Amino acid sequence: MTATKAQARPLPQRTCVACRTTTNKRGLIRIVRTADGIVADPTGKLAGRGAYVCGQSACWEEALARGRLEHSLKARLTAKDADALRAYAAAHSGGNQ
Ligand SMILES: [Zn+2]
Repeated sequence: MTATKAQARPLPQRTCVACRTTTNKRGLIRIVRTADGIVADPTGKLAGRGAYVCGQSACWEEALARGRLEHSLKARLTAKDADALRAYAAAHSGGNQ
């Protein structure tokens, strides 16, 4: 057998800033530093420095409360941005897992 089977192109791997779990992009939520602050980017289309957090609420807490996000994005996270990201996380991390 000399079939040269091309490997499927791997999905981009991203790392959660809190738990450091590496997974494919779909399992993580992108967060971007924009001119207006640090925002969630569910479309993945915003330009800017990005970081990723997985869908666990504990990881969002860690990322927001312990400065992981600020460190990763090299930006200040304002209280307003943190509130918006917490609300986003609450809506997307689900309560039934
Ligand atoms: Zn995580």
